[in-house]
Amino acid sequence: MKVWAITAHKAPLECVELPDLHATGSEVVVEVTHCGVCHSDLHMWHGGYQMGGGKFLSVADRGLKLPAAPGHEMVGRVVEIGPDAEGVAIGDSRVVYPWIGCGACDRCATGDDNMCTRQRSLGAVLNGGFARQVKVPHPRYLLDYSGIGAALAATYACSGITTYSAIRKVMPLRKDQPVVLIGAGGLGHAAIAMLKAFGHEAIMVIDTSAEKRAAAIAAGAVRAFDGGAAAQSELLALPVSVAAVIDFVGNNATANTGMAILPKGGKLILVGIGGGEIVLSVSATIFKAQTVQGSLTGSLNDLHDVLALARSGKLKPSLVIERPKTEANAAMHDLEAGIVTGRQVLVDS
Ligand SMILES: [Zn+2]
Ligand SMILES: [Zn+2]
Repeated sequence: MKVWAITAHKAPLECVELPDLHATGSEVVVEVTHCGVCHSDLHMWHGGYQMGGGKFLSVADRGLKLPAAPGHEMVGRVVEIGPDAEGVAIGDSRVVYPWIGCGACDRCATGDDNMCTRQRSLGAVLNGGFARQVKVPHPRYLLDYSGIGAALAATYACSGITTYSAIRKVMPLRKDQPVVLIGAGGLGHAAIAMLKAFGHEAIMVIDTSAEKRAAAIAAGAVRAFDGGAAAQSELLALPVSVAAVIDFVGNNATANTGMAILPKGGKLILVGIGGGEIVLSVSATIFKAQTVQGSLTGSLNDLHDVLALARSGKLKPSLVIERPKTEANAAMHDLEAGIVTGRQVLVDS
């Protein structure tokens, strides 16, 4: 099979030939037809994550071996089924839940694979959808997306469940209680759509780009701020206090802005892995009864929920741009350059 692989970190992806995959036991081999391109793919390409304070977590330390195919937002066709795999047939098209755990622990037993400490994630630890084929250990990770476009359904496997899971951590709220989204890029826009799917109204964004602020308002945000000192004062003086801030960027500036605008009882949800650091005053956090919480992708059940929300019509489709898989390198560069509006999805016909 053809694989668009990282053969050396930061070097252009190369199209390499690897042996075809075969299914045993409960495994299913899927031929990937659609694969979204996510910021996490850039981390994998660059070799790891800035952890704040000058520390770096390398993907090699997380178990990644090169050559490796990025890509975790996948839709594909079932091409081979192990003897114990039930509920799927050859030719079925399915969205793949990629955040697969060990399959044996209590977290995996409840579908919280993303919380498993022994990850077998596709496109993070194991080869993902930039490969022609991926092997899924059990059919429960393959979800029916009928009624939803294939490229859009693929994006729900990361972008969709990441925003859903973050918003679930701040709900329930009255619809007039402000939720502030930091970063009006791809995830920010997905979050606006998701909050609207929850029936929420007081959606506000912070972004340094005037263009992105305007796009967020057009997408349904009621207020958009540049994040500067004046904006922070204005956010702290709103007649109904900010209930939650969700940081989709995660650098020093954004995470500290998040803390600065968090009123008493507010929740700061950290989603973007931008390498930032926050110094927490224990006393101030107690006096203000604040919550700071990390949110890591989403569970298998979250993916079922997001697909149901999309089917119900409550979750409006977000913008996807289809590109041939042969443009994998260009897609990565464009994402890194910040020139992409919407989510790029590589298509392998
Ligand atoms: Zn992702
Ligand atoms: Zn597990």
